[in-house]
Amino acid sequence: QKQYNSLTDNRANCKCLGDSAVGKSQLLARFARNEFNVDSKATIGVEFQTKTLAIDQKAVKAQIWDTAGQERYRAVTSAYYRGAVGAMLVYDMTKRQSFDHMARWLEELRGHADKNIVIMLIGNKSDLGSLRAVPTEDAQEFAERENLFFMETSALEATNVETAFLTILTDIYKIIS
Ligand code: GDP
Ligand code: MG
Repeated sequence: QKQYNSLTDNRANCKCLGDSAVGKSQLLARFARNEFNVDSKATIGVEFQTKTLAIDQKAVKAQIWDTAGQERYRAVTSAYYRGAVGAMLVYDMTKRQSFDHMARWLEELRGHADKNIVIMLIGNKSDLGSLRAVPTEDAQEFAERENLFFMETSALEATNVETAFLTILTDIYKIIS
């Protein structure tokens, strides 16, 4: 099966999607290098991050792609979705609009990616609890309806970032083993 080609060498190709400024690049930096750049411009132009981790006693090389500035609706080209076995749909829990746009991003993703792709909905910036604009239940409901994993994260405080990536990668490998 086509989807599994990119897994034959234990490399998992995942894509990050979502509106601009929700924290995609910082989530990647936190996951891959345990870094958070206060000056976010430093990450512009970085196309993907890799990190090798152990899943079921196998070394898996996760390759996580960043849209790097192409975040306007429909600006992400179909080439970006190629070879994806997993995707992170990221919104900013302090920006309702970024959550409302998740349905569009999901539609784009489903229109371009393999139907077996594993998808995780991520509400980022959980450290800004007092500014919350998206109740957890709203996101949970959307995730259940659309069959997505769901997690709230903070790239700043490193909350749930590792768990989110591990969850999606473990599920990807569950499919093939
Ligand atoms: P991107 O456009 O989705 O790649 O977003 P960035 O990763 O560049 O982050 C956008 C802004 O949100 C930057 O100012 C980041 O410092 C900030 N940011 C990212 N993640 C977090 C987080 O978890 N908590 C807080 N408080 N700010 C964050
Ligand atoms: Mg970015």
